[in-house]
Amino acid sequence: MIKWPARIELAQLPTPITKLERFSKRFKDTTIWVKRDELTGTEVSGNKIRKLEFCIAEAQNQSCDTLITCGGIQSNHCRATAVLGARLGMKVHLILRGEKPDVPEGNLLMDYLCGAQISYLSQGQWRGHEDLATELQALYASGDRKAFFIPVGASDEVGLWGYIKASEELKQNFQDLKMEPEYIVTATGSGGTQGGLIVGTELLGMGSQVVAFNVSDDAAYFERKIREDVMLWKQRYNQEFDEDKVKIKTVEGYVGPGYGAAGPEIFDSIAELASSEGIFLDPVYTGKAFHGMVTELQKGHAGALCGAKNVVFIHTGGLFGVFPQQQNFRFG
Ligand SMILES: *Cc1c(COP(=O)(O)O)cnc(C)c1O
Repeated sequence: MIKWPARIELAQLPTPITKLERFSKRFKDTTIWVKRDELTGTEVSGNKIRKLEFCIAEAQNQSCDTLITCGGIQSNHCRATAVLGARLGMKVHLILRGEKPDVPEGNLLMDYLCGAQISYLSQGQWRGHEDLATELQALYASGDRKAFFIPVGASDEVGLWGYIKASEELKQNFQDLKMEPEYIVTATGSGGTQGGLIVGTELLGMGSQVVAFNVSDDAAYFERKIREDVMLWKQRYNQEFDEDKVKIKTVEGYVGPGYGAAGPEIFDSIAELASSEGIFLDPVYTGKAFHGMVTELQKGHAGALCGAKNVVFIHTGGLFGVFPQQQNFRFG
């Protein structure tokens, strides 16, 4: 049995799982399903809230009243943290990578509306973001507050629980549908979703293989990052888990121009799924992973998803990141 740590129920769960009726018709042998984690809540939409349920429980166990976290200007993780801080009456301080824009949009607009305090670090200063977080913790301590630090994407040994827990939900989904997919597909950025799914499916004896499409860094990075998080998780929670058995499969080749920047094929994919199924992807994460999944499926036996009868795509959210890139869509 899994020994679960403290968790606060914050997300709308379980999320639905949807079959792509029309979109799947382009494949002879494969049905695509979408696990709708963009429906974990309107303002908190996406995967980060599943991890934050555990991270914020840990913060409260440590009697913290303030959350410090960090990410890009359009970070979905920072936005979810800002919303949850407002919801729970905790102060939130965000450290964002980039210049302060004249007019905040998308996720950043929501950060401000939720009353988050924001410090900006330039690309060049970003290396020092964890040092700044430590300084801020000391500053808050001198003002009689206790600040809890959550790393980028809440991807650490605490946040790992989010998608271990989600694996339980997936297992139930698959039982209800009388279907066990060959593959569970996700975008990977800071590694916590991918890592949690790998550990969760293994702990629960599920037959599906987790395949991630990286939107930054490379496969070697996620191999290292996930092995490290799993090792820390085992130590901290005294878990039995044989990580040598697990295969970390990260499919490279779909980052495009870089993190946060996408080519025209990604914007076309977003429009295609929106018009055929009414489901919205984003250009930073889910659009790239979905495009990667479709491309690999089209390769058939030569692709990374060979032999797929059923594939479950984890929709990790990101909708608010669409609007700051609206100029990149082509119509006509
Ligand atoms: C953060 C994020 C991801 C990646 O999840 P990680 O756990 O950070 O790898 C994928 N999709 C969206 C929309 C995200 O915000």
